[in-house]
Amino acid sequence: MFNRDAILQQAKNHDSFYLYDESKIIEAARRLKQNFENVHFLYSMKTNPNKAVLKCVLDQGLGVDAASAAEVKLGKQNGIVQEKIQYSAPGKKVKDIEETINDATIIADSLNEILLINEIAEKKDLVADIGIRVNPSFSFFGGSASPSKFGVDEQQLFDAVPSLLKLKNVSIKGLHVHLRSQELNAAVIEKYYENLLELAVRFQAASGQALSFFNMGSGIGIPYSPDDVPLDVARLGAEASKLFESFRLKLPSMQVYIETGRYVVGKSGVYVTKVLDKKVSCGKTFVILNNTLNGFVRPSIAMLVANYSKDEHPAASEPLFTSKDAFQFFALNNETETEIVTLVGNLCTAADIMAADLKLPKLNCGDIVVITNAGSYAAVLSPMQFSSQDAPVELFLRQDGEIINTTH
Ligand SMILES: *Cc1c(COP(=O)(O)O)cnc(C)c1O
Repeated sequence: MFNRDAILQQAKNHDSFYLYDESKIIEAARRLKQNFENVHFLYSMKTNPNKAVLKCVLDQGLGVDAASAAEVKLGKQNGIVQEKIQYSAPGKKVKDIEETINDATIIADSLNEILLINEIAEKKDLVADIGIRVNPSFSFFGGSASPSKFGVDEQQLFDAVPSLLKLKNVSIKGLHVHLRSQELNAAVIEKYYENLLELAVRFQAASGQALSFFNMGSGIGIPYSPDDVPLDVARLGAEASKLFESFRLKLPSMQVYIETGRYVVGKSGVYVTKVLDKKVSCGKTFVILNNTLNGFVRPSIAMLVANYSKDEHPAASEPLFTSKDAFQFFALNNETETEIVTLVGNLCTAADIMAADLKLPKLNCGDIVVITNAGSYAAVLSPMQFSSQDAPVELFLRQDGEIINTTH
């Protein structure tokens, strides 16, 4: 599950750190590529833009799903060509569009933005190949549409198509839909893909033009809790291939893209921290750890949600909160006796609880605690400036066994 020797070795020099395992990233990327035929995968860089992680993922042949102009630049610096960088985000500024128009396929997020891209392309005397993010007339689970800040409602887009086709400096090449992350049921994702293909057919009928691509977003999830049943990627890939093939005649020139952040990197990382102090208060044992919510914020958010929610299964709020029990805690010592502890941090706030009333081997000061599922939405989401502590470092375990420090 994690490399115990590497962690023990590094803990001699660091009180808290992330350790990303290259071999796990490569394994996950290969699993996707081997199971899906004729699909281009794009790495959703916002999940973990660490430079060694990014290079490793892109070396596996993935393109880039960029959420900002800076992420487009990072993709380009890593040698990714324009056709394999899609830039999708709401509220793009003029500067964002100017900076990326030659390096990415911009996915317009609103009708206003299509006009803005057209204007900028005209000034630059070029025709921009763009995609449009759609809020379709169906939900991820196949029900009716929901209001969304992302994309253009399907009907609004179809109504605008005649005027959009008159624009001289944009050419609509594709569509993008992303409705949900972290789904573990293959049948749900298959049905979602089918609904997207039907949307593509409807769009082609409305525009009279063949689509060059469809970016189907993410949805591909990873098991967080020990109770989660992993997504059957082999089944999903096989069914998706069949589905895409059955639409081949209707969508002859359409390349399918699928985005993924957490699937390729989420399980590759652990967060490691140390016991600084320990006390008993009113019968409860508190273990004080180094850099909790200011090092890896998601376990503390899970505690907040659990404490404030009346539901047994609180709704996810990605990427901040996935589910209860999403992180596992391991004590790296040789204790055989266990105790019930609450894991908190060295911050001057009571909100830095990582886990409450957890059974662990007896912890002593200086012991090491390892937390799983720290490869995605982890370092990048955590408020490391809070209370001016030394931030955790980010380490990368290469396949050849060498460990490099990749802290920004
Ligand atoms: C964040 C994001 C993703 C990545 O989601 P994962 O669950 O990490 O795979 C994909 N597409 C879009 C548009 C996103 O905003």
